[in-house]
Amino acid sequence: MNCFGRHRRQTAPAPAPQISGSRSELCAPPLHSRINGWSLPLHGFQLLAWLVYSFMAIVGFGIYLPLLPAPWSFAAYALIGAVFVLHLVTHVAAVTVDPADLSVRRRKDYSSPMPVFDNTKHQHVIHNLHCTLCEVDVAPKAKHCSTCNKCIADFDHHCKWLNNCVGGRNYWFFFITVSSAVIGMFLLILVVLFVFIEHYVNPAVLRTAPQFQSKTSPVKGNGTWLVFLPAAPLETSSIGLLALAFITVLLALAALLLLCHLLCFHIHLLSQGISTYEYIVRKRQSPNPKEKEQGPPALPSNGATTQVQTQQYITDRKQSIQQNAR
Ligand SMILES: [Zn+2]
Ligand SMILES: [Zn+2]
Repeated sequence: MNCFGRHRRQTAPAPAPQISGSRSELCAPPLHSRINGWSLPLHGFQLLAWLVYSFMAIVGFGIYLPLLPAPWSFAAYALIGAVFVLHLVTHVAAVTVDPADLSVRRRKDYSSPMPVFDNTKHQHVIHNLHCTLCEVDVAPKAKHCSTCNKCIADFDHHCKWLNNCVGGRNYWFFFITVSSAVIGMFLLILVVLFVFIEHYVNPAVLRTAPQFQSKTSPVKGNGTWLVFLPAAPLETSSIGLLALAFITVLLALAALLLLCHLLCFHIHLLSQGISTYEYIVRKRQSPNPKEKEQGPPALPSNGATTQVQTQQYITDRKQSIQQNAR
């Protein structure tokens, strides 16, 4: 689903003829502008993000939080519950908001097909704050995203996890989505590790729920555990409980590593007062030749910035080839 060539920065210089046959010409932008992250086609990363969220919610609230002793269980339900709800709301908002420039939203009919960029007529898609594809005047920080095929207000980057552009209109929804995911994952790891350790050290503190002492169907032995308390108790073994804890912590740690990297990167950008796009452009314009030889700069591997990153690299390579040919 990640079409390398589709991710052309429309504001970049026109493709050079020497590069014909390169991957950037194999794919075209979508015929119509996409409205938001729910517009088809959905992205694999987007589905993966929702799957991981659902898995963490089911495993966390269904299995491990109910095993915590009171009053920790109440505190955990309230705190982690609030973080998960906040994440859900901001995640849905970041996907649903149309980040297009105001002029695009006012005048554009999303159902009509978009014109194809003709680089023999125009050098850039946006020229003198006028987009030749959207056919509207746009704000200074607007950029035409080739994946969404429309101009985005205060363009930051196109995010594959949201399947939507991140711009001025949904930046803070995106930022809170990432922040709440970091906090949620961290708290969940603490809970699962607590259950994992107490299972060996003092399993009695995990068996305080009344269902463990039920007179009608008492739990047999210390090797049997109950999950999905209190609504639908199901018996499972110690092995099952611990194996799932191990998988959950491993998955949460991997997600936490990526999310922390992304969050730190955006905190750095906010402290500098620049967008992801501006950061990449500055980085590519850096005079350090060693850096250019190494290719695109190291950015958070969120699958979000590759569009700008890749095109800037392609543009640099094209310019270098053109200069060598002269
Ligand atoms: Zn445009
Ligand atoms: Zn986009």
